[in-house]
Amino acid sequence: MDEIVRLCKHRGFIFPSAEIYGGFRSTYDYGPLGVLMLRNVKNAWWRSMVQLRQDVVGLDAAILSGPRIWEASGHLTNFTDPLVDCRNCKERWRADHLEPDPKDGAIHCPNCGSTDLTEARAFNLMFKTHAGPVEDEGSVAYLRPETAQGHFVNFLNVLQTSRKKPPFGIAQIGKSFRNEITPGNFVFRTREFEQMELEYFVPPQDAPKWFEYWCEERLNWYVDLGIPLDQLRLRAHDQEELSHYSAGTSDVEFMFPWGWGELEGIANRTDFDLKAHAAHSGERLEFYDQATSERYVPYVIEPAAGATRTMMAFLLAAYDEDEIGGEKRTVLRLHPRIAPYQVAILPLSRKDTLIPTAQEVLGLLQPIAMCDYDETQSIGKRYRRQDEIGTPLAVTIDFDSLEDRAVTIRERDTTEQVRVPIDKLVEEVTGRLAL
Ligand code: ATP
Repeated sequence: MDEIVRLCKHRGFIFPSAEIYGGFRSTYDYGPLGVLMLRNVKNAWWRSMVQLRQDVVGLDAAILSGPRIWEASGHLTNFTDPLVDCRNCKERWRADHLEPDPKDGAIHCPNCGSTDLTEARAFNLMFKTHAGPVEDEGSVAYLRPETAQGHFVNFLNVLQTSRKKPPFGIAQIGKSFRNEITPGNFVFRTREFEQMELEYFVPPQDAPKWFEYWCEERLNWYVDLGIPLDQLRLRAHDQEELSHYSAGTSDVEFMFPWGWGELEGIANRTDFDLKAHAAHSGERLEFYDQATSERYVPYVIEPAAGATRTMMAFLLAAYDEDEIGGEKRTVLRLHPRIAPYQVAILPLSRKDTLIPTAQEVLGLLQPIAMCDYDETQSIGKRYRRQDEIGTPLAVTIDFDSLEDRAVTIRERDTTEQVRVPIDKLVEEVTGRLAL
C-alpha cells in the first residue's frame, strides 16, 4: 500500500489535494497519469455497459439537487451512518467500524484507547448547501450522494426519447459526495469520489434472473481487465446490512492490503424508487406495454461501482516487482485499456538525425493510442520508467531505423523485443494491444 501511494505521488497519478497548504481533509487530485488512468477506467465501464449493448443508454444528470428528490428517495431520513464520540479525546468514529477488544470485549477508541464513548446516533452523510444568494430553508440544496436518483427522475424522459422498453438500462458516470465520518485508506474512502452506476429496469417477475445476470457480468468485468479471480469475491449482504430500498444486494469485493473491501454493490432496488418518486411528484412513473396492454412499475437492478476506488484496485493488483538481467524493477502490469499510456516512443538518442523518424512514428501511433514521447536519459532508465507507469509497449527508433525503415517494439511484461517495419507498425501495435 505504501509503495502504491509513493508511486502515485512520485509518478504523477494522485496527489494529496492542496498540498502547498498542508492538504485538505482526505481529498485528492488526479495528476497527468492519474487523469488518463481514471478516464480509461470510466471508458472501459462505458464501453462494456453502453457501447457494446443495445439495451442501455447514457445520462449525465445534475450534481446539485433539491430536497424533494432526497426526501422521496429516503436519503434525508435513511442515508445515515451511526456516529459515536470519544468523550476523552473528542475524536468521532463510525460505530459499525469499531470492533470489540478480544481481551475485555469492550469497545475502545482507536485513537486514545478510552472506553468512554457516547451512544451511537444517526449522522446524515449528505452535503448540504444553498443555491442562490439567500441562505434560508427555501434555498437548501444537496450535492448528490449517489448518481442514482438522476436515473429515476429522468425515467419518463428517457423512456419517451429513447423508445426503449424493459429490460433496458440507464448508465451514468459522475461525481458523488458523502460527508464520510472517517475517510481513509488513500482513495478507498473519500468525501468526493466518482461513481459508475447502471439502473436496469425489468419486468418485476424477471428481477431475480437479472440480478444473477448482473452479478456475474460485473465480476467478469474486473477479471477481464486483469484483476486475478482469487483477489475478488461476490458477497451477499445479510438482512441487517441491506439498504432501505434493497430486496437483495451482493458486493463485488477486492482483497485490499487490509482485507476484503467493496468495489461495487449490485442491488435489487425493486420498484421502491419509481414508486416513491411517483408518490412525491404526482407523475405516473410506469411502463405501458402496448403488446399486452399492461401497465406496470418496473423493478430495478443496480450495479453501482466506484471509479476512483476501482482505479486503486487496478493499481494494487497490477503492482509487481521482478528482476531483469540481475536488476530489480517495479512494473505495473496494467491491462492496455487501463494503462495511462499504451505506447512509449523512444528515440535511442537525442541526435537530430533520429528525431524526424521518431516524430513520424509518433504521428502514426498518436491517433490510435495514447503515446508518451520521451527522448531524455539512457534507454534503460526510460524502459524502467515506462514499466513503472504500466506502459504495455515501447517503440524504439535507433540508427538502423534510418537505413532499414524498421523499429523495435519492446513488451513491458516479457521485455521481449521484435523488429517491425514502420509500414507495418500500426497493424502490429493494434494487434498487440488488442484494444
Ligand atoms: P461503504 O459501505 O464502503 O460505505 P456503500 O455500500 O455505502 O459503501 P454504495 O452506496 O453501494 O457504497 O456505493 C457504490 C460504490 O461507490 C461503492 O462500491 C464504492 O466503490 C463507491 N463508493 C462509495 N462510497 C465511497 C467513498 N466514500 N469513497 C470512494 N468510493 C466510494
